Formats: sequence, C-alpha cells, structure tokens
Amino acid sequence: MRRGIQAKLEGRITGRVLYGEPLAQYTSLGIGGPADIMVFPGGVEDVRAVLTLCREEGIPYLVMGGGSNLLVRDGGFRGMVIHLEGVFTHLHVEGRRVWTGAGVRLSRLVAFCSKLALTGVESLAGIPGTVGGAVKGNAGAWGGSIADHLAEVRLLSPEGEHQAISLDQLEFSYRRSSLPEGCVVLEAAFDLEPGDLVQIRRRVSENLLQRNRGQPVEWRSAGSVFKNPPGEYAGRLVEKAGLKGLRIGRACISPKHGNFIINLGGATAADVLALIDLMRHQVREEMEIEIELEVRVVGED
Ligand SMILES: Cc1cc2nc3c(=O)[nH]c(=O)nc-3n(C[C@H](O)[C@H](O)[C@H](O)COP(=O)(O)OP(=O)(O)OC[C@H]3O[C@@H](n4cnc5c(N)ncnc54)[C@H](O)[C@@H]3O)c2cc1C
Repeated sequence: MRRGIQAKLEGRITGRVLYGEPLAQYTSLGIGGPADIMVFPGGVEDVRAVLTLCREEGIPYLVMGGGSNLLVRDGGFRGMVIHLEGVFTHLHVEGRRVWTGAGVRLSRLVAFCSKLALTGVESLAGIPGTVGGAVKGNAGAWGGSIADHLAEVRLLSPEGEHQAISLDQLEFSYRRSSLPEGCVVLEAAFDLEPGDLVQIRRRVSENLLQRNRGQPVEWRSAGSVFKNPPGEYAGRLVEKAGLKGLRIGRACISPKHGNFIINLGGATAADVLALIDLMRHQVREEMEIEIELEVRVVGED
C-alpha cells in the first residue's frame, strides 16, 4: 500500500513527506512511536490534497500543531500525520483585528499584541503550542481562554472545503470547541482592545512568573493531564490521593504540580498511561470523582 500512496502523495504536493518518522521529537512530552506517513504541507493546497487523498484511500489522519497536548502511544500512528507548525505563520493587524496563521506559536501572538498595546490575549502567555491547536481545544488559563476575543476562524473541512466561521456559529466551553473533528484550522482573527502598554507587559510577565513558580516547566510534559472537575482542581485531587512524586518507569507525577506528568528522560507512553490509570483509579476510589483527560491520546500501543 505504501508505495502506491507514496507515488500519489508525492505527485500531488510540494511539501516534505517522511515515512516511519518517530513522533517523539514533535511532542512536548518527547514521547511517541513512528507515523506511517508524516506530511509537512507547503501551503493550503497541499493540505487540501492530503485531505482528499486520505478520504479517497480511507487513510486515518492526525492534524498536529506544536504537539503540546498530545500523548502518542509507543506503537506510533497508523496513517498520515499532517504537521502544521512552521506553515501558516502569517501575523498582521487591521485596526483592532489581529489575523494570525494557525501555525503561529501562542507566544508569538502574545508578543505581537503586547507590542501593539492591544489587550485580550495576555492570559495565553506561556501556553505552548500553536494558534490552531489552541483554537481547536479552546486553550486558556487564569479564567481566560482563546475564545474570549476570537472573531473568526478559517479552516478546511475534512472534505477539503474552505470555510469562514464567525464566533456566533461556534460553541466553546472549558477546553472544548465545536469545530468539526478532522478539520484543519488555517487562520484565526481576534478582536482586541487598545490597552496600556506597561500594564499589558506586566500582566504577561506576571502570568509567566506564576507558571514558572507553579509548574514543572523545566521538564518535558504535555501540560495538565486532566481537566479540572467542576469546583475542584485535578492537581489537588491527585495530591490529596498522595500520588505526587510517584514514578512508573521514567515517567513521574510532578512533585511540583499534581496534574503534570513529566518525562524524566526515556519515558514511554506506556509509563505515562500507567500513571494516568493510577491517578484516575485513586481519585475515583478515594474521592468518588471521575476525572476526564485533557491530554489527547492517539496512536497504537
Ligand atoms: C508546560 C505546558 C503548559 C501548558 N499549559 C496550558 C494551559 O495553561 N492551558 C491550556 O489550555 N493548555 C495548556 N497546555 C497544553 C497545550 O499547550 C495546549 O492545549 C495547546 O493549545 C495545544 O496546541 P498545539 O499546537 O501544541 O496542539 P497539538 O498538541 O499539536 O494538538 C492538540 C489538538 O489540536 C488539534 N490541532 C492542532 N492544530 C490544529 C489545526 N491547525 N487545526 C485543527 N486541529 C488542530 C490536534 O489534532 C489535537 O487534537 C500546556 C502544555 C504544556 C506542555
């Protein structure tokens, strides 16, 4: 099958294609087996061609941004990974509206808006990953989220159709958006307010400082493993269950933050998944609370 797909793919796109590429180097956790096929599209027409090929051939695909919210299993991904970091990196302003490509890192968006003294995205400071991933999962922190100032999202539907979707056509909730599964976010627009440069910069630095104090930023992780249940913090529940610092293989529940699993170097997805099971089980047994994954687990064992 691979040779047939390879010929079809390479005849249709201008971007790079890799076969059997280990995904660990593309995830913030530093974990993940190989992807059958990994595509680095050269532009929107490449993405469209890849979506079409996947549909025609029945190939499963995974859209990947910064890989900072993904746990890829050790057996890797059977299908096509469409890697979007490094493409769609445009960023410009029209009055108070900021347009950003989906591959722009959130840190760059925050820095860009701060420089223009436009306020609204400071709460995103320090969240790794790209605008596309953040919009898809409604990333946020400190009570704010990326949806707060979002005006429009442009995307390719899984069928490869261009769509411009305004905010009133979308639903966002805690770490969730109603964007269709399998769509590819291409760009997003944010409507921001003029603010005070000094205050914006202060808010950004305070948020970064707070993160550095409370999170194990010196280790590889995928951020919060679980969503916070209503009125609670998943990290506190894990801590109450006495699990902070626990290790399985080379993965460890951070002693600094109970909702972070860190890679001590050489951890496998199986190590992380075993910790996840344990955290879930203990919190269920001891506190009768069901905690739901925030990290997206993909691929095969
Ligand atoms: C140290 C650390 C701290 C973190 N802190 C926070 C935090 O405070 N708040 C928070 O919300 N998150 C946090 N995260 C998690 C993560 O950074 C966010 O979820 C981020 O928005 C993921 O973006 P990404 O580009 O890395 O997406 P990926 O991890 O690559 O993908 C995540 C999901 O988005 C989809 N996706 C990615 N790009 C696109 C696209 N262009 N179009 C369609 N779908 C796409 C993927 O298919 C996948 O389902 C943290 C992570 C780390 C490592």
